[in-house]
Amino acid sequence: MADGQRAALVVVIRDDHSRATVTAELDRRYGRDYEVVGYAGPDEAGERRTGSGLPVAALFGGLGTADPDGLAVLRALHRDHAEAMAVAVVRWGDFDTARPIFEALTLGQLDRWLYVPEIVGDEEFHRYVTEILEEWSARQGGGFEAVRMIGDRWSERAQHLRDTFTRNRIPLGFYDADSTEARAMLDGLHLEDPRLPVVQLRFRPERPVLQDPSDLDIADAFGLLTPLNAAEVYDLVVVGSGPAGLGASVYAASEGLNTLVLEPEAVGGQAGTSSLIRNYPGFPTGISGNRLTFSAYQQAWAFGSSFHFMRSGQGITTADGLLRLTLSDGASVVSRAVVVATGAAWRRIGVPELEALTGRGVFYGAAVSEAPAMRGRQVFVVGGGNSAGQAAVHLSRYADKVSVLIRRASLADTMSDYLIRELQALPNVDIRPRVQVVGGAGSDFLETVTVRDLDSGVETAEQAVLFVLIGSEPRTDWAGGALARDRWGFLLTGAQLLDDDASPAWPLERPPALLETSTPGVFAAGDVRAGSVKRVASAVAEGALAVTLVHAHLAMLTRAPTRASPGRVEREGHARSPDGVAHGFAVGGEG
Ligand SMILES: Cc1cc2nc3c(=O)[nH]c(=O)nc-3n(C[C@H](O)[C@H](O)[C@H](O)COP(=O)(O)OP(=O)(O)OC[C@H]3O[C@@H](n4cnc5c(N)ncnc54)[C@H](O)[C@@H]3O)c2cc1C
Repeated sequence: MADGQRAALVVVIRDDHSRATVTAELDRRYGRDYEVVGYAGPDEAGERRTGSGLPVAALFGGLGTADPDGLAVLRALHRDHAEAMAVAVVRWGDFDTARPIFEALTLGQLDRWLYVPEIVGDEEFHRYVTEILEEWSARQGGGFEAVRMIGDRWSERAQHLRDTFTRNRIPLGFYDADSTEARAMLDGLHLEDPRLPVVQLRFRPERPVLQDPSDLDIADAFGLLTPLNAAEVYDLVVVGSGPAGLGASVYAASEGLNTLVLEPEAVGGQAGTSSLIRNYPGFPTGISGNRLTFSAYQQAWAFGSSFHFMRSGQGITTADGLLRLTLSDGASVVSRAVVVATGAAWRRIGVPELEALTGRGVFYGAAVSEAPAMRGRQVFVVGGGNSAGQAAVHLSRYADKVSVLIRRASLADTMSDYLIRELQALPNVDIRPRVQVVGGAGSDFLETVTVRDLDSGVETAEQAVLFVLIGSEPRTDWAGGALARDRWGFLLTGAQLLDDDASPAWPLERPPALLETSTPGVFAAGDVRAGSVKRVASAVAEGALAVTLVHAHLAMLTRAPTRASPGRVEREGHARSPDGVAHGFAVGGEG
């Protein structure tokens, strides 16, 4: 082991040529930081793996003609190195390995796969290896700290801030206020009786220290409080930067619209909290929701969208054909069109004792940043949808035991088949049907959880942690009565507005466009919309589609002074565009 090496890369491949090539490529590129060791088979690896004592970052296991049992070997080695990335390595042309690889990925038995490099300096091979090491490193934590936070691990405020920093991809170091390290840090900052959490911005030369800061204090310290130009009229304001808002902002800005995006929490919305999205096209082994949405944010920004963080939309009114949005900081912004993409938030469990312990043993959503703290604990995941399934898979990496509690008799109607199979294959996960959480207790932290098994009665579990993922409710209250909603609060759009009970009713003679809300020029996209599919891909697609409709709306505004009435526009639009997508508009500047 050379000085400075922090982990090992272990290669177990029987085929001499493949093992030598993989080992040599890894050693040449990563040898300074990682100890690279190659073994001809599981027995040799088993005998020697304790050698240097370094943790293992990745296990590269051969699979193919010489290693027909490669996946079983990887699984066995992985049991001793649970935090290592499990990677299958195959020769190009060994097509029979495809099915077992994808099966193992589905069952969570494999993290990645790659080809044996066929040339020296095979950059594609190295791109995958770098991603594998990045993922391993992210799981370990402890890297560069742009922000350092000292707080009570189980305080709701500290958790909210950790979550916000993590979801915004701001490198964070968190120290529990009770730890020796944290106490030494507070001494170093000359804070004897600090108001927690204490946040230090270490990337600023003056390293400012904030005590129990509000969201706006943090935005200010980050330099995000630049006021909006009150005189500016935007082509489009996008409310919310989840997948739908990001889809809209990428397309709007790339098509030349002067676009502003409002986001009070973190880029990525619900998708940004997902540890692994497996069904977004183009990522056969999945992608973290945070990475996917953050890349979309960078893309929108690069095309010219402006982002206004830490402020939410609070109301919407129409004046002189323009739309005015009031913001949570008291400012307002004027725009020709609006896309509402405010998505949905977690439904609460409705047990008062447990509500009082939110953030202190009771978590809503997957709470990715809390997962490593679940080591050695028993975890209950409440909910039977895909989000609950993904959370259970993620938490099973850390917790001793994960129980998925569902009210129904089976998961079949609510969870994707691939996730059910993955859960069933995990040895520390059990699925408990016909179970309901009915109570709990704790002072500083959740101590007991009471569940009712509909078949066997009430039972109490001690020292468990609860993750609640029981569906979501639309975030539409902020719009007051301005936008028509269905009885669950989702925004009505398009033909839904022509139903007699839609209130407020659609005000114009022309029919509303496909994603248009009851306020002309305001469109809804993604989970917030009544009848939406509740998927990342469909939210992105609706955001993109909304932009096409915005173009048509802007074209109509441009022509409006020469038009006699909205009704006339409708007749022209229908004559020229019977396709239904942009119906109701005199499409694209023909007039
Ligand atoms: C843990 C988890 C895992 C998931 N996994 C998958 C998966 O694997 N595959 C899949 O297809 N789908 C998955 N989903 C569902 C998917 O994430 C959602 O369908 C998608 O995020 C919806 O996108 P959206 O933009 O419509 O809304 P959201 O993602 O909810 O985003 C809404 C945004 O609007 C912001 N906002 C709210 N109110 C306001 C306001 N007043 N002003 C300004 N902004 C506001 C919010 O802060 C948020 O950022 C998952 C969801 C969760 C929670």
